[in-house]
Amino acid sequence: MNGVELRGVTKAYAGLTVMKDINLEIEDGAFLVLLGPSGCGKSTILNMIAGLEPVTGGAIHIAGRDVTELEPDERDIAMVFQSYALYPTMSVRRNIGFSLKMRGMPKADIEKRVDEIGELLQITPLLDRKPSQLSGGQQQRVAIGRALVREPSVFLFDEPLSNLDAKLRADMRVELKRLHERLGRTIVYVTHDQIEAMTLATKVVVLDKGAIQQADTPENVYRRPANKFVASFVGAPT
Ligand code: ADP
Ligand code: MG
Repeated sequence: MNGVELRGVTKAYAGLTVMKDINLEIEDGAFLVLLGPSGCGKSTILNMIAGLEPVTGGAIHIAGRDVTELEPDERDIAMVFQSYALYPTMSVRRNIGFSLKMRGMPKADIEKRVDEIGELLQITPLLDRKPSQLSGGQQQRVAIGRALVREPSVFLFDEPLSNLDAKLRADMRVELKRLHERLGRTIVYVTHDQIEAMTLATKVVVLDKGAIQQADTPENVYRRPANKFVASFVGAPT
């Protein structure tokens, strides 16, 4: 299995269990959305996949490899957060190319790669600007560019659109969907927004209180909710 797998994962913070026995298979190339109310454990799952939080029990596999004990930079993942801290003094071009420079990639190769990313995300005219000269949506695109440039097999997004206004959010949804179709990589995407989940996901995992309530296609979650919680959460107006 080439995607991401959580096997019997448990999580406790300071001895307090917030998650028990999570089993989840994320297929290679899926756009998997973790959906649920604040505090249900979405970020915890993402952070455990990323290696930013250790699991308390169980194992995590990425692309068939047990990564449970590996550091974040050894896991072949890239993460995009809600607050996208770009380096303020660097141009967009340098922001995107920075991780490649750290890896020692030759300058000409970095330039070529950044140009490709610029085209893909339609930010070519912005490459020589500073982050402060960009709108929120443009900054978020640069943050996505920074994740893309490393070409990981798995992208992790934690509520990446939450800070954008409604119009931009809708535009970015369309762009993320297109990006996923073009890249064909696995995306694990966290949101509390039902519309985001329904429009983006190939599969939705609905969480409540640290437990999976339903894992199914958006259509089935909507039409055949597994329980009252799913029915009320997915059906509720935003
Ligand atoms: P979500 O992302 O769905 O809002 P989280 O994964 O952040 O939820 O939180 C899940 C649960 O774990 C919550 O009860 C939260 O209070 C708790 N939690 C999250 N991070 C920490 C932490 N660093 N220390 C202690 N408890 C935490
Ligand atoms: Mg969260």
